[in-house]
Amino acid sequence: MTRAHVSFSDLRTAAYCPRKCYYQRALPDEDRAPPPEVESIRGLESRYEALLEAPPDELEREPIAISAVRYRDRLTTTRDRLVDAGHWDRLRNPHDRDVFAAGRHCRGVVHKVLAEPLEPVLLSTGEPPENGVWEPQSVHAVAAAKALSWEHGESVDRAWLEYPAYGEIRSLELTTRRKARYRRALRAVRELDGPPARSSSRSKCESCEFAAECGVKTRTLRSMLGLR
Ligand code: SF4
Repeated sequence: MTRAHVSFSDLRTAAYCPRKCYYQRALPDEDRAPPPEVESIRGLESRYEALLEAPPDELEREPIAISAVRYRDRLTTTRDRLVDAGHWDRLRNPHDRDVFAAGRHCRGVVHKVLAEPLEPVLLSTGEPPENGVWEPQSVHAVAAAKALSWEHGESVDRAWLEYPAYGEIRSLELTTRRKARYRRALRAVRELDGPPARSSSRSKCESCEFAAECGVKTRTLRSMLGLR
């Protein structure tokens, strides 16, 4: 018997907190749709060259998350670094875009597919961490790489994360450790037949929309209840 494919988004959420994934899967489809700003932020990616030339007042009207001056500096640094490393052109002219990929275990949309070597690129609407990529994004990237690898019959050793609202692009190697975290998240989704244990990281709960339902008292909830 073949087991159902796990979606990239379930996998990403389970890597953040399996219990959150449990609550999210219970939502009706219309409540799981991404917010409208997601598309406009992703839309920045196809216009990096124009954004680099845009005057600051024009840039300020774009859905960027930092000041226009900082954005241009950061995007310029990103471009120069990737030009030097020989990756800028392939990231700007991918082999394919918005490809639905289904691997052995997972499926979902890969925002850009690079060729020679085969590599997935994911667009994140959020802020990058100080270094590297967030763990749920790493798990998502491994899933995308595995799906492409399965479809093309080619090994994939690297994936990319772009943060268009911050002018940042990062790569990650598919290390043994990253693959192990991916497998752990996959197992967590497949074993979801009731609410799993709460995350031990309260900082995750602070930004979780299911905190009240989950029974976790976040700072916001505590202040609403007048508790310290
Ligand atoms: S509030 Fe915390 S433990 Fe509960 S689902 Fe959210 S992240 Fe997980």
